[in-house]
Amino acid sequence: MKPVGPIPEGYSAIDGELAISGRRVSQLVEEAGRTPLFVYSKDLIAQRMAHLRGAMPGRIKVNYAIKANSFAPLLEFISKEVEGLDIASGGELEILQALGIAGERISFAGPGKRDAELEAAIAAGATLNLESENEAARALAIGERLGITPRLAIRVNPDFELKGSGMKMGGGAKPFGIDAERVPKLAKEITDAGCEWRGLHIFTGSQALGADAVIEAQNNILDLADRIAKEAGLKLPKLNMGGGFGIPYFAGDTALDIESVGHSLSKRLENLPESLDGAELFIELGRYLVGEAGVYLTRIIDRKVSHGETYLVTDGGLHHQLAASGNFGTVVRRNYPVAIASHFGSEPTEIANIVGCLCTPLDRLADKAHLPRAEVGDLVAVFCAGAYGASASPSAFLGQGPAKEVLI
Ligand SMILES: *Cc1c(COP(=O)(O)O)cnc(C)c1O
Repeated sequence: MKPVGPIPEGYSAIDGELAISGRRVSQLVEEAGRTPLFVYSKDLIAQRMAHLRGAMPGRIKVNYAIKANSFAPLLEFISKEVEGLDIASGGELEILQALGIAGERISFAGPGKRDAELEAAIAAGATLNLESENEAARALAIGERLGITPRLAIRVNPDFELKGSGMKMGGGAKPFGIDAERVPKLAKEITDAGCEWRGLHIFTGSQALGADAVIEAQNNILDLADRIAKEAGLKLPKLNMGGGFGIPYFAGDTALDIESVGHSLSKRLENLPESLDGAELFIELGRYLVGEAGVYLTRIIDRKVSHGETYLVTDGGLHHQLAASGNFGTVVRRNYPVAIASHFGSEPTEIANIVGCLCTPLDRLADKAHLPRAEVGDLVAVFCAGAYGASASPSAFLGQGPAKEVLI
């Protein structure tokens, strides 16, 4: 037997069936017309935001990193809950523009921005988080050609990292940002060139569950931002401190203690250096805001036994849930939180493997999980599906096509 991850708070059973925001999953599937189906809950996103706001100092603003989940109705909802939106491509800019979201709320990070993407972002009034000196020169030239003053921030490749984070995005050689020691010179150059100076972006990692690690990274970020500003002789109108707040995916994971993080940050903000006096301070979060608010529902289409092991074969799989299958940046595959949604909360009675419908051994949703007995037609729920599910899975693989998504 292998353990499954912890089921997030906020889910209940109605008549032995999983309910999301008080709605039974069988009914949600019926309304949607098919499985596989992603269900995202507005209630759970709003509760998460309220918890975050309660824990963080009032001065801290929140950006949502839309690559976690860019389903349009969800973006429309969450854009009213956060101050800003982070994008990482021209395609994501188009998604936000189609929703009528103002350019000044958007910041654009990501290595390898094409000229056409820089142009669209500058024309929209978005802030560019510059990833290289070359990109800075191109942005300035495009601004000049368009007759628009570009809003420019510099993404710093810091000389430290967020400890214990699932994906390290800072420290040592990286394709992201500009090495910290070169940033003051570039900051002077772009402000001399007449850009609208938007400060610094320092992102150190993702998926951290340890409050001490997050606190240490935030302190290092504030120190580094001050050092850079002093050396450049500039004040910082804005500092994007990154995020990295993780969620529990696997057995043994515990939730990040954001009260501790907020408490420490509050104390730190009481005596900020002069360079950060009037700075707008942002954290940028993706999975923390939406990950636990989403469930992936898939139906069992076959139940079979091989060499004594039971396989529940579903109509979903890694083409929608690459991360849950263990193929999105994990070294050792572990089980996500999963449940037989049709028998939610029932006592486990058997050990079964839950697999997808793709013809590859990589397509596993749960290995040797202890579950209530499930039959063909029952629904399976994969939790923590609100982030990096639909947006980060190869839905065209094997001609399967995307899952349906709903926001309730
Ligand atoms: C992906 C990304 C995020 C969001 O990461 P999460 O782990 O989902 O919070 C934030 N900022 C940047 C720069 C990113 O690339």
